[in-house]
Amino acid sequence: MLIAIIIISNNIGSTNGVGMKSRKLLSIFIMIILIAAGIGMLFFVDYGEEEEDGRLSVVASFYPLYYFADYIGGDNASVSLLIPDNVEPHSWSPSVSDLVAVSKTDVFIYNGQGFEPWIESFTDQLKEGVATVDTSEGMEALYGNETVSELDPHFWLDPLAAVVQAKNIAGAMIAADPDHAAYYQDQCDELVERLVQLDADYKIGLENKTKDVIVTTHEGFDYMALRYDFTAYGAVGISGEDQPSAGEMADLVDLVEELDIDYIYSEPLFDDAIMQQISDETGAEVLILDGVHGRSGPHAEMDYFEIMNENLENLRKGLGVTE
Ligand SMILES: [Zn+2]
Repeated sequence: MLIAIIIISNNIGSTNGVGMKSRKLLSIFIMIILIAAGIGMLFFVDYGEEEEDGRLSVVASFYPLYYFADYIGGDNASVSLLIPDNVEPHSWSPSVSDLVAVSKTDVFIYNGQGFEPWIESFTDQLKEGVATVDTSEGMEALYGNETVSELDPHFWLDPLAAVVQAKNIAGAMIAADPDHAAYYQDQCDELVERLVQLDADYKIGLENKTKDVIVTTHEGFDYMALRYDFTAYGAVGISGEDQPSAGEMADLVDLVEELDIDYIYSEPLFDDAIMQQISDETGAEVLILDGVHGRSGPHAEMDYFEIMNENLENLRKGLGVTE
């Protein structure tokens, strides 16, 4: 930036035909103004005072992490949600008021692995003292294969990967509020037990599947598919923003017809026009497979486990479990 300032001020000096000394003075003058403006910008964010109610204050970037943190925090933590439930979170970005709100809390939890593309500048600007938790720490992300076009952040749809996320959340809450360590640990143990049971339900529920391919709205189900041994093709990319070309649509229609797929899936937070089009062309029925990016539509009042259980019922239909 300084180089640019010097070039600008030198140009001003030479076009006006001002002498060497004046040009130097002009450069210094402009530099002082710009540096003062920069310092002003640093103080632009008024973080305000922290609101204390005695409980640990926690913000989670989106619904599943909110649910896990609220479960672990119970009566000892006040947990809130940053990205609203009915918003598609891949394309959401925070405002200055979000930065101010999160800066007033003790712990900020996010998914990581590109799910929140704004995370680096956001955490850089957070008020000092807010603990930040990347829940994907310790897990290896899928990146680019036949069914995933980019870095895949959708860990929470594999119950055993969600166990790692829950443990990362509990670890941060215990570090931030050691007085309630035993409580948080107990709550986390109970949550982990339920996630392990969910995994067992999926394993048993999909054991006798007769099909092994699903077609769904966006590329959000690869960790789930890997865990339970099927393949998930998404029509609109990993963040739901890449619309399929005519050729890709034709390929999906061919896939549904060739594999004799009876059910395809839409998601409450994404436009279902493309799945409806594939349904019209193939006769496959559209069911819901919810990526649990937020609670909306028919799932607005359901929690993580209730949505995941309904997903299992619909997957059993799509994967041809008949008994
Ligand atoms: Zn997604």
